[in-house]
Amino acid sequence: MTKYICQNCKTEITPNDLRLLPGVKCPKCSHRILIKKRSLIAKPVKAR
Ligand SMILES: [Zn+2]
Repeated sequence: MTKYICQNCKTEITPNDLRLLPGVKCPKCSHRILIKKRSLIAKPVKAR
């Protein structure tokens, strides 16, 4: 699942929160620039 972080106030926003909001913006400060943050940790791949 991809989380978003507000560039302005660093509030974490889940995709669920985005669905409730009219458009993409921070629910706290109404800042429109959100940074994508992936919660999945990249798995190490064995190199041959
Ligand atoms: Zn914000």
